[in-house]
Amino acid sequence: MIYLDYAATTPCDKRVVDAMLPYFTSNFGNPSSIHKYGEDALLALSDARQKVADLINAEFDEIAFTSGATESNNIVITRAVKEKQAISFKTEHKCIIDMFQRNNWLLLDVQSDGIVDLQKLEYAISDNVAIVSVCLVNNETGVLQNVAKIAEICHKHGVLLHTDATQGFGKIDIDVKALDIDFLSASAHKIYGPKGVGIVFYKKKHRKLLMQKFSNPDIEYGIRSGTVPVPLCVGLGKAAEIVKQEMHDDFERISRLRKLAVSMTEDMDEVYVNGSETSFYPGILNISVRGCEGEALMMEIGDVCVSSGSACTSNKLTISHVLDAMGIAPDIAQSSLRFSFGKYTTESEVVTAMTNLKIAADKLRKMSPIWEMIKKNMNIDEIFKNCPRHDH
Ligand code: PMP
Repeated sequence: MIYLDYAATTPCDKRVVDAMLPYFTSNFGNPSSIHKYGEDALLALSDARQKVADLINAEFDEIAFTSGATESNNIVITRAVKEKQAISFKTEHKCIIDMFQRNNWLLLDVQSDGIVDLQKLEYAISDNVAIVSVCLVNNETGVLQNVAKIAEICHKHGVLLHTDATQGFGKIDIDVKALDIDFLSASAHKIYGPKGVGIVFYKKKHRKLLMQKFSNPDIEYGIRSGTVPVPLCVGLGKAAEIVKQEMHDDFERISRLRKLAVSMTEDMDEVYVNGSETSFYPGILNISVRGCEGEALMMEIGDVCVSSGSACTSNKLTISHVLDAMGIAPDIAQSSLRFSFGKYTTESEVVTAMTNLKIAADKLRKMSPIWEMIKKNMNIDEIFKNCPRHDH
């Protein structure tokens, strides 16, 4: 199998597993206990917290462990919003979209390249808005937002800024001080750490906003209660330490892999790269192969694991809410695939994947009435007009 779905999750680095193992067996203590086992667990937890803080230039006591980015996003936004409103964007991760739709908070459009329209954002901010939440690197397109600029606009109007940094954490440099971010969410399993653990970063002065009334303030600063999963936190700490050292080399290599993948589509008709061409994280490449349905492409590209921007549920074809929000034509959106590269991806895997993609596209297009219509310049908009949108 060729795994090109690193944006979905990553395998645990063996060094991470080795670091975690003793905390399941011999060092199994509860960090809240005051005996030796507890002390050892607390030391390991503190070491992990410091390593995570170092990765994003935060302070030790500005990091609380959570179960992952979904929980962190929920903690920050639902607690910081108070009686006011929150603003986010239509291209955000499903967990943000769900929360915003449930609460009737504002989801703004983005530009056609997936980048936030700063003017629209500033216009939408009012006295009734407490917090803006923006995804640093989009999980479907890799589009990278100018979070420093967004923070500047928010702060000018006395509004807080949260970034869901899940797809950028440990992959690109993040300096929470330089970016002037108030809150940040991330998960360990996107950086070769274990699943089920993540962090919320908060500026120290905002900690009170996140603290729960009846939580023990000695456990995760009163932000998240319950016995802390020390082995998972140790794993996240180790993963953070490793990516800090290896991130820049990985970025260079992954950039080359992306260029190789894109260059291999250049002799194909009607293939599009979705999202900004200038502001993106190269590990995520979203490509549309017009005339082919995304899920059908996925089935046809052999043993290559990728994600599709379309889904066939209950015999209905749905398209990605992210590509839809970017105004990408439905027939192009439904023909999209997300390739995501990571530190174990090789050049030959990329070559095989893209060769398989070409073969799959040729095969599917030969059978596709839509492709026939596209070639004859016929209007196909009607066919996709009522196509439902789905969230990844
Ligand atoms: N936000 C983004 C941008 C993501 O990519 C993901 C994971 N796909 C999440 C949030 C949720 O992360 P988790 O499932 O680890 O809570």
